[in-house]
Order: sequence, then C-alpha cells, then structure tokens
Amino acid sequence: MVWVGPEAEAPSGGQKLDVGGGILMPGLIDCHSHLVFAGSRLGDFLKRMGGESYEALLSGGGGIHTTVAATKSASDAELLALTQGRLARLAKSGVMTVEVKSGYGLEPEAEARLLTIAGEAARAPGMPKVVRTFLGAHALPPGRDRKDYVAEVVGAQLAACKGLAERIDVYCDRGAFTVEEAEQILRAGQKAGLGATLHAEQVAWTGAAELAGRLNIQSADHLERVDEAGIAALAKGGVVAVLLPGAMLQLRDSSPPVMQLRAAGVPMAVATDFNPGSSPVLDVWLVASLAVLTMGLTPEEALKGITRVGAQALGLKDRGRIEVGAVADLAVFEPPSGEKADPRTLLMYMGGHTARIRIQGGRVLADSYQAAIEPSL
Ligand SMILES: [Zn+2]
Repeated sequence: MVWVGPEAEAPSGGQKLDVGGGILMPGLIDCHSHLVFAGSRLGDFLKRMGGESYEALLSGGGGIHTTVAATKSASDAELLALTQGRLARLAKSGVMTVEVKSGYGLEPEAEARLLTIAGEAARAPGMPKVVRTFLGAHALPPGRDRKDYVAEVVGAQLAACKGLAERIDVYCDRGAFTVEEAEQILRAGQKAGLGATLHAEQVAWTGAAELAGRLNIQSADHLERVDEAGIAALAKGGVVAVLLPGAMLQLRDSSPPVMQLRAAGVPMAVATDFNPGSSPVLDVWLVASLAVLTMGLTPEEALKGITRVGAQALGLKDRGRIEVGAVADLAVFEPPSGEKADPRTLLMYMGGHTARIRIQGGRVLADSYQAAIEPSL
C-alpha cells in the first residue's frame, strides 16, 4: 500500500474501486491449520461423542494415526485436489495468508511430500499465500522408539523439510512429545533457520509455555491449561498466544485464561486449527465469533486476532493491516442484511461470510465483483 487516508486527499491517477458501503478488511490471516490430509475421522467423532477421550483414541492408535494411514494411501493428485479445495474455501472467506502444517507423514519423504503439495496447491491463481510449517513431531508413530524417532525428526526429517518450510512446530503435550524433546526439536529447527511455534498446554499442563518464552518462539498455540508462570514467560519472550476455539469446542474443553493473558500483555491471535479430528472447521469468521462468545475476547481483539496479530504469530509484519508499506491484500464484505458497515456485525452473525471483492497484492481478483470497478479518477 502506498497511501491510506480520506478520499479528498487521495493522490490523482490510478484505478478507482467503489466498495459500495461494504466492510473493508485487510486480507484475513489463518495462522494455524493442518489442511493437507486425506480420509475421514467420523469413527473417532462418534466414539468421542460416546464418551471416549481424544487422548485415549490417540494412544490406541486412532486419532492422528488414522489420518496418517489415509494420507499415505492417497495419491499426490488426490491430496493436491483436497488441499486446493480447502484453500479455495478459505480464500472465499477473505483469507489471504494461511499457515499449513505437515504432520500426517511422520517419515522424511512423507513429511516433505505434504509440504511440497501445500506449496503447489497455493500456486493456483487467487489462492492464499501459504506459510509452511514442518510438524514431524506431531505424534510418535506406533511401535517407534521415542529416542530414535526424535533423532529422526531433527536428522533426516528436518534435512528433507527445511528447504520446504518456513517454520517448525512440535505437539508438546501428555501423550505426545515432552518439553525436553520439544526443546531439542525446536532448537534444531531454529538452527536450521526456521521460525518456531509450539502446540502447548492443551491436554495437560506440561510447562511448554515456559519453553516457548525461553526460546522466544513466534507463537504458542492452544494454552487451555497454561499457568501464571507460563503466561509470564510468554509475555517476557514476546510470544503470541494463538487461541483455537474450534478444538476447544470439539473436545468440549475449557477456555484458555484470556483475562490473565490480556492482563499480562500477551498478544492473542485466533485461528481455525483446521484438521479432520479435533477441529474440523474451515471458517476463520466462525472461530473469531467463537473466540468472543466462548473465550471472552472482545470483538476488537478477535478482529485483530484474525488479521494483524495472526500475521505477527507467523512473523509477518507486512500484512493483516491497512497501512502504508503493507502488502495490499484487502477483502470487502457485505454487512449482514439490515446491519451497518461495521466489522463487528460479522462476528455477531456467526460464520459463513464470503468476501464480495478480494484484492491480492494490489490486484482485484478475477472472481471478484468486477462491475464495481470504475474508470480512473
Ligand atoms: Zn494444531
């Protein structure tokens, strides 16, 4: 963006686009997703609704492992089509930058394959920019020795993936990887030049948030069970707290301590955590509404959480904001019928909002409302 301000002061020349009373937003940011996968987790859902816990399913070889097996048996073309379909749906809702994790491969070549497909899927016109995150430490494959597997993650897996990803992540929790293992993996990623993030304090308190603060990583995500020391460490380390209401609701969990995070000055982002098991929701507007309704974010915090703070969680300072110097990613939304052009109405009306006009890097996308373009000033 080269200029932002009142119309009367606009520089002459250029193209004029009348957004006709619409709500102008920076291109939305979804800073946490697992969208390259195949297969269904309906069986898990039915078991969970029957009272089984997510943790019990995972340790019984279900959960993530079900998706790893289905993803392995899908062809590249199938995975690409699935991923493109999901990215296209996010794009329609105004998302212009999305973080995509690997983590359903759990072997060097399989992890690299998922990151490659994520990159390819984003190459189609009008797709969001994809920030790729290597998540080989998503789950310990059944039958693997822990020490051996962690050595593979920081060895062969990282070597295969570091050129395909911008970030590294670990699922640090009871039933997954320990704080010590997470530290080893994140440090190896940082040494390889990757940004770092962490699934932290979701199923059980582990001390992962303190690790996140100590390593000054970009974000710590989930945080349902973060304690006071963890919050202080996040604040001190400049770590963004990424709140994931889809997973909280799907697992019938309690809220992260939003009041304490706010009081400590920890920036809060909101993301879909889109995945087939614990957060099958592909609507950043819906999770922003849920962050307000179920976690207690203010509407303004939720709007920042899916724009500028979401970008901050990905280490990106040039998007998620309408200001000079930022990338000109913009989305225009119609207010719900009878409502004023106030973005908070898009949170009150829960989910399903489609961008009427999308501008990516200063270019009006072809499937946008072309009729709104007027001749130059
Ligand atoms: Zn996740």
